[in-house]
Amino acid sequence: MRPAELTITRTTTPKEKPNWDQLQFGRVFSDHMFVMDYEEGRGWYDARIVPFGNFEMSPASLVFHYGQTVFEGLKAYKGEDGSIALFRPEQNMKRMNDSNERLSMPNFDSEFVIDAMKQLVALDADWIPPRDGMALYLRPVMFATDAFLGVAPSKTYRFIVMTSPVGAYYEGGMSPVKIAVENEYVRAVKGGTGAAKTAGNYAGAMKAQEVADQEGYDQVLWLDGREQKYIEEVGAMNVFFKVNGEIITPALNGSILPGVTRQSVIQLLKHWDMPITERRISIEELHEAYVRGELEEAFGTGTAAVISPIGELYWKDEHMYINDGEIGPVAQKLYDAITGIQEGKIEDPFGWRNIIK
Ligand SMILES: *Cc1c(COP(=O)(O)O)cnc(C)c1O
Repeated sequence: MRPAELTITRTTTPKEKPNWDQLQFGRVFSDHMFVMDYEEGRGWYDARIVPFGNFEMSPASLVFHYGQTVFEGLKAYKGEDGSIALFRPEQNMKRMNDSNERLSMPNFDSEFVIDAMKQLVALDADWIPPRDGMALYLRPVMFATDAFLGVAPSKTYRFIVMTSPVGAYYEGGMSPVKIAVENEYVRAVKGGTGAAKTAGNYAGAMKAQEVADQEGYDQVLWLDGREQKYIEEVGAMNVFFKVNGEIITPALNGSILPGVTRQSVIQLLKHWDMPITERRISIEELHEAYVRGELEEAFGTGTAAVISPIGELYWKDEHMYINDGEIGPVAQKLYDAITGIQEGKIEDPFGWRNIIK
């Protein structure tokens, strides 16, 4: 289901560019955005790139009341040779349609939206920060627009892609984070919406994040929603551990978000013939490995940070200090390889860069 065509209306009042050295994540938006609308029976229509700006919605819009909405996050990178590319956008679009399916929302034609995103980035190419490690973040979001207070899937939707220049996640290099294991709240349960990138998952997670913040931790590590025993993921990142030479990540089980970075890390480790296992791992098992001195590395993976080394895990009065708070060799090797491919500095053996120009 794709709209007939894409129209482009350029802004007549381009904005001043921000100071690239003082970018805060997600606060500044480029000059244009992509929009298209959906109506049951008609499909997607009016695909357009227009000046970034506000729009009006009915207070009764279904999304405000029942949260029928999904989103994505990906980046456009400028290479050393001046080329611009998206990183694995097909994966994000596939995941967005999977999220749509879970939320009873209509799907869309991935190729059409990827092409629209490429035209959007090409039009706002001067919003890609001209510095190493920086990028233009793309935020696709789709939401229910029926002005109806009944609890039923909307018959109309809007799809938007906005873009925001983002700074290097780590100023002055990667630095390990402190993570608190969450023992009270849960993020997702089997049969729930944990595997979908949908607003409710994040709204429900804010309380735990707030408490962790107050206690001096950067993020929480979520355990499974039934027994609070098995490790799921960290904030908006998937998680990996190196235990006695083996790299382990929790297997996708329906309540974990299937990260594109997670998949890329697994592919790279296999490519390098390094031992990687996707399986269930309990927090007790991890703690026992720590006590034996076998917990060698821990790191999170996600689009924003790429690789985020974990220097400390706090679980029930136990502080697990990992790799002396230093970045481990596996985390460093993965970070160098993925950012190297994203920025076109090294060979791209899997065809992950989707070149815009
Ligand atoms: C987006 C997200 C991730 C990471 O996914 P990437 O595709 O690697 O960016 C992991 N967990 C959650 C909960 C997320 O929202």
